[in-house]
Amino acid sequence: PSQAEQASQGKSGIPGVKHIIAIASGKGGVGKSTVASNLATALAKSGAKVGLCDCDLYGPSISLMFGTNDRPLATEDNKIIPLQAHGVKLMSMGFLLEDASPVIVRGPLATRYTQQFLQQVEWGELDYLILDLPPGTGDIQLTIVQTTALTGSIIVTTPQEVALIDARKAISMFSKVNVDILGLIENMAWFECDHGVKYPIFGDGGGADEAAKMKVPLLGQIPIEIATRQQGDSGAPVALSPESESKASAAFAAIAKD
Ligand code: ADP
Repeated sequence: PSQAEQASQGKSGIPGVKHIIAIASGKGGVGKSTVASNLATALAKSGAKVGLCDCDLYGPSISLMFGTNDRPLATEDNKIIPLQAHGVKLMSMGFLLEDASPVIVRGPLATRYTQQFLQQVEWGELDYLILDLPPGTGDIQLTIVQTTALTGSIIVTTPQEVALIDARKAISMFSKVNVDILGLIENMAWFECDHGVKYPIFGDGGGADEAAKMKVPLLGQIPIEIATRQQGDSGAPVALSPESESKASAAFAAIAKD
């Protein structure tokens, strides 16, 4: 939908931000945050101005994945200044929490926090703002897709049927609220051993088949890689690695180029 159509549906953009892209998954644990942080990093590496907003109030993970835990400062007019790491502007509930204390908020408040997150952060000029949505199709996700003028959404799934069932639900939620599906990313597509043999641990080609069935583009397939997990845990997304050293890094670079 065009900007004008989106405005007529009550959806607003963020001043200075060209494209807002939501990264969603039906199910938790499929690698949505890993994909969001690596895509943001790959886009920044290619020269784009990029922000990443962790909208997962209940399980924020971007601070871990970018190795940042500072408290963001505010501007004089009370806007939050995002942190920055690996060339990406970052905002996450994780930055506002004491230690690892859980966020205990109910639906309406959670929804308000999320809106505040998006509208009260001083993002500045960005080519892309990547939103790491919470898994599933609950209140927070709905609020975001109904009030934000998104360029589109990307759905992350593993090839496994339980993940695909939920990915289908996410696709149908976005379709119902008129958000374009930019495509599907199949994560944990296979594991390749040192001898070059590929093992389809979570099933073979489930994401690719699903994309064809749902008539959405398959943007890429990310292998299971030790470096992807390790670098995510150590605050340096694998997309920072040379493409020759990591198949995942190469896959993220290719998706970012598109
Ligand atoms: P989600 O955001 O969907 O809950 P995460 O991105 O937090 O999932 O990923 C779950 C776990 O799986 C993390 O520990 C992450 O490091 C790991 N992981 C995700 N994708 C891959 C991959 N392609 N290869 C190896 N580990 C991965």
